[in-house]
Amino acid sequence: MKMGFKAFALFLIMFTPLATLQQPAYAASGLPVLSMVNQSQPDKVFLKKARKGDTLFTIIKREGFSQNHWSQIIQAQVLPKKFVISQGLNFRVGTHKKSKAKEVKFYDAHKSQAYVIWKSGTTAGVFLAPVNFEKRYKQVEGHLKGSIIQNIVDHTDDTLLAYRFLNAFKLDAKMRNLQRGAYYSLKYEDLYDGGLRIRSGEVLEASLEIKGQLRERFFIPTEEGGAFIDLQKNQDNKLLYSPVNYLNITSLFQKRRFHPIKRRRVAHLGIDFELPLGSPVLSAEDGTIMKIGKSRGAGRYVVIEHEDGVVSYYNHLNSIEKDLEIGDEVLAGEDIGTIGCSGYCTKPHLHFAVKKKGRFIDPAQVIRTYSAIQAPVIESTRTQLLRDFSDISETTL
Ligand SMILES: [Zn+2]
Repeated sequence: MKMGFKAFALFLIMFTPLATLQQPAYAASGLPVLSMVNQSQPDKVFLKKARKGDTLFTIIKREGFSQNHWSQIIQAQVLPKKFVISQGLNFRVGTHKKSKAKEVKFYDAHKSQAYVIWKSGTTAGVFLAPVNFEKRYKQVEGHLKGSIIQNIVDHTDDTLLAYRFLNAFKLDAKMRNLQRGAYYSLKYEDLYDGGLRIRSGEVLEASLEIKGQLRERFFIPTEEGGAFIDLQKNQDNKLLYSPVNYLNITSLFQKRRFHPIKRRRVAHLGIDFELPLGSPVLSAEDGTIMKIGKSRGAGRYVVIEHEDGVVSYYNHLNSIEKDLEIGDEVLAGEDIGTIGCSGYCTKPHLHFAVKKKGRFIDPAQVIRTYSAIQAPVIESTRTQLLRDFSDISETTL
């Protein structure tokens, strides 16, 4: 099966309006920056890859920055405390011919922004700059040999992209029994800066044959994030909304799984959403605040009671909404806190759990793929796409 006309046209409809987003100039960051590096693009750029064991410091040193430069960069207090450099991470080195200035640009893994570390003579600094990525669209398809992750990595050399593909199906498809030879396809963005491929962007369409049936998911971007949806199905039958605006599920509900910290098999009675520290956490439905607290395992947490004996749990929060109190009524999609790593936790994430009539149930069965605040946009876009979709099929016939 190939990308048909229908799918391609749909794809154009979905992504054309987004290309015109205006990016503010570097200077808008309000940070003290050296004007010649700040204003002009480098004359020459090279793409480089982080090596095994690299840290920000080892890379900067290799690029000819001195200890004195490094001190100035640290003093600027612009870089995040934990600056993770993984092996193979792309970064861009640029040189300015006239001023002999040099810059090393590290791209954010999620947002369209980058840290630009620069030096000119004995002066050095760092600033956060928006990146106006050029997007190129790619498609990969095939029939499964081995694991789905391995198949996608073989084609794209991009593990994150492979996990992103799986996220399209995690909430509403059982993928345990994928058959050898099953068809899969994905369309995704590759992000370029100054003609160099930096990293992959969003997976826009994902198809997977599960037990002989082709399942298709489309990514609908929203102002807050976005969600994968099945065009043919609305999600009105679901009890709750997603507690986050962007689904990056790293752990599903499992009666038994290996616990990375306790190092033994324990049940995982919720879903983990891994998102950047400080991302909003939202109430999954209208309800009443039942508990607000802090514990060794769950960290800072909130519990909300909804109708029909349904209760939702939000653990590992970084912060809890200031005025929130036990007994307060909250609306679906209301901010209750932010993503954090309090309690037993290795990476910022939300552990989200649902109890029904006193027992933990699999949240995947009851939550929509989008939050309540995204619902109007997602639902209207889905309807619009369906309509366009049928218009296109008519014209092709
Ligand atoms: Zn969890």
